[in-house]
Amino acid sequence: MVARTLRGARLVVASHNPGKLKEIDDLLGPYGVDAVSASALGLPEPEETAPDFAGNALLKAEAAMRATGLAAISDDSGICADALDGAPGIYSARWAGPAKDFALAMRNIEEKLQAQTAPSRKAHFISALAVAWPDGQTQVFEGRVDGTLVWPPRGGQGFGYDPMFVPDGYSQTFGEMAPAAKHGMSHRARAFKLLVDALF
Ligand code: IMP
Repeated sequence: MVARTLRGARLVVASHNPGKLKEIDDLLGPYGVDAVSASALGLPEPEETAPDFAGNALLKAEAAMRATGLAAISDDSGICADALDGAPGIYSARWAGPAKDFALAMRNIEEKLQAQTAPSRKAHFISALAVAWPDGQTQVFEGRVDGTLVWPPRGGQGFGYDPMFVPDGYSQTFGEMAPAAKHGMSHRARAFKLLVDALF
């Protein structure tokens, strides 16, 4: 395969999720990438029809690459609860409904846990980062962080399910941590580290 680098590249970030865009921007910040988001370009959001994180990440990156002719990067991510057989998983965004109500989505997880006798509260976040190159080649990098689901949710930082997730080895939720602390250990940061090692 041709050697590829993102250094100094113009890149589309194929996401419409403001929380994710902010984190990807923070992560790309040090690398001198000229990044523009799919939402800023008014690109449509493709339907996520793949059965796994990597497939959905690829589908979003390829759609943005085809629409713009630029290299595109996308993240498909979610939270997987052990006691719920990995749900909400790839449906994490959809559990929040059209109003993107994550208080509701977190309550939904908690109610399903409380309906079980002594459920495991273990969970993990997964991030699959896909890069689609204008020549049609693609790459996927996957990161994971393990932790525990707490109730009630705590903290106003981050986004999505952050307020109910405490990463292993810590006592604060992602919602209580400063962004830099989350970026030091998150699923997205871990996937990003693999991407940086390969592409910068
Ligand atoms: P999608 O990748 O656009 O399908 O959406 C993934 C969903 O997973 C987001 O809307 C969030 O609800 C959740 N999610 C992914 N990463 C994080 C994270 O770092 N913190 C909290 N929630 C996340």
